[in-house]
Amino acid sequence: MEMFFKSEKRVATNHSEREDEMQLITLDIRTLSFVTTSVAAIYGFGMLAFSLLQPRFRGFFLLALANGTFAIGLFFLGYREILSDVVTIIAANICILSGHALYYEAIRKCFGEERINPISPAIMVVTLVLLYRFTYSAPSINKRIILLSAMGALFAVLSLLEFIRKTPDYLRVPGGMTAVVFAVSCVFQLFRLGTTIKEGQIASFMDAGETHAYALFLMIVLISGSTFGLVWMASGRLEYEMTRLATLDQLTKVLNRRGLEDAALQEFSKLNREEEDLGIIFADIDHFKSLNDRYGHRIGDEVLTVFASLVRKELRLHDIFGRIGGEEFVILLPDTSFSNSLETAERLREMVEKMCFEMEGNEIYMTASFGVAMFTQQANSLEKMISCADKALYHSKREGRNKVSYFMSENGRPVLYTS
Ligand code: GH3
Ligand code: MG
Ligand code: MG
Repeated sequence: MEMFFKSEKRVATNHSEREDEMQLITLDIRTLSFVTTSVAAIYGFGMLAFSLLQPRFRGFFLLALANGTFAIGLFFLGYREILSDVVTIIAANICILSGHALYYEAIRKCFGEERINPISPAIMVVTLVLLYRFTYSAPSINKRIILLSAMGALFAVLSLLEFIRKTPDYLRVPGGMTAVVFAVSCVFQLFRLGTTIKEGQIASFMDAGETHAYALFLMIVLISGSTFGLVWMASGRLEYEMTRLATLDQLTKVLNRRGLEDAALQEFSKLNREEEDLGIIFADIDHFKSLNDRYGHRIGDEVLTVFASLVRKELRLHDIFGRIGGEEFVILLPDTSFSNSLETAERLREMVEKMCFEMEGNEIYMTASFGVAMFTQQANSLEKMISCADKALYHSKREGRNKVSYFMSENGRPVLYTS
């Protein structure tokens, strides 16, 4: 019963409550300008500190500038009808549009572009001229809103295109989220443009109505969403680079054992789905110790680096190449038959034999020995494949080096290959 009376009482007071609620959600453009100013200023200072402490992340100084110009522009906007038009209309709107332009340029820089796109200053100059006209020679608040919404939407589209064209696969999630923020910004600004074309002349911007007040809410979404998104992308890139570094051999920049194992696991999972061959070549430079003894360890290092890059060039893009020991290299050949694996090893052997390293006035020649094996039911892991290829490689060494041998999976014996 008590509940019943309570709800009846609610109904009785419903009308006055609704009036109170309407009071609560009244959107005051001046107040919103200052709220948005503080949000932009906080993100501006945050990004400034971030860009100074983490200079390797490109584009964040521009992002700090963008948030700073947003803050200044919105601050000036809040003084409309209090300070002069040149400050609260011209300077305010140019600062806000500069914020959109700087976002676009910051995104380009994050994606590795060095120079600014000349379209940005061009848009700014056109906007300044038209803004001046719609403020002094042919004043119209509606035309100013249409102009600034169109230009804001244009920068949002340009930013969106950068994300669509340049986001790498490993940044799909943060890149996609940030792109959505710019898509929402673009759609809203076009909606505002359409609304302003349809509505009657606006007498005072401060009483322009809800759509224009929501534009300031949208700025908060744009500032916080895009700044957060770009920081997320930077941390995603850092994680990617660290993982990549952990899988690369420091000297030769080809895969290390861990990188080889990761790549091999991916190949093995493909083999389970498709009936494909997977070959392995184990290569070991002949008499490398003597080369070191004769020319020094530093030249030995350089020889290893050049050797690795020449072999890499000789392979297909999807072949997997890594260094597993001092002068020992492994190549995994996806979707390659036994005979093609042998031919590849022989081609590499001939290439190494013909190579001449000219280093510090020395002409250095060398050879390498090769062992070839295939993925089989028995040799079904990287370790087992390497072990089979190693037996064949040992055979090549025993037979005089500068040779290719293969491992017979049927009887477990290594055989010398003669082309
Ligand atoms: P073999 O023909 O039997 O393979 O003889 P080898 O001298 O090439 O092989 P061994 O295993 O006896 O010696 C390998 C040498 O490789 C020993 C070491 O001096 C050299 N080495 C290993 N890692 C590095 C490296 O990172 N840089 C340089 N410069 N030399 C290395
Ligand atoms: Mg060797
Ligand atoms: Mg060796």
